[in-house]
Amino acid sequence: MAYTQRPLPIAAGLAGRCPQCGKGRLFQGFLTLRPKCDVCGLDFSFADAGDGPAVFVILFAGFVVVGLALVVEFTWQPPYWVHALLWGPLILLTTLGPLRPFKGVLIALQFHHAAAEGRLDLDNRR
Ligand SMILES: [Zn+2]
Repeated sequence: MAYTQRPLPIAAGLAGRCPQCGKGRLFQGFLTLRPKCDVCGLDFSFADAGDGPAVFVILFAGFVVVGLALVVEFTWQPPYWVHALLWGPLILLTTLGPLRPFKGVLIALQFHHAAAEGRLDLDNRR
């Protein structure tokens, strides 16, 4: 089945939907991909986000948590247990929360741009 109206890759990725039809689910677990789309049958074996989602999440979470920790420390100088109480849950929220949407977006963008590992085009050699 040919899909002429593909969903926007970022919208499909954020929703965890198939990048081709926008309806089928992309994930079967928290971060595990389904083998194929249950609506259009797109094989998800092309998808390889690698460490990309984790890198973006680490950069985002580090910016937020370290920035807030520095502000709190220099403003109020609370005891260490306050830091542990504040930043432990915030680290979990800022890392686990966006990890799945980031992975979905990267896979949808990979499909949209037909990104793959480098290959030699031997037919066009002289
Ligand atoms: Zn699909």
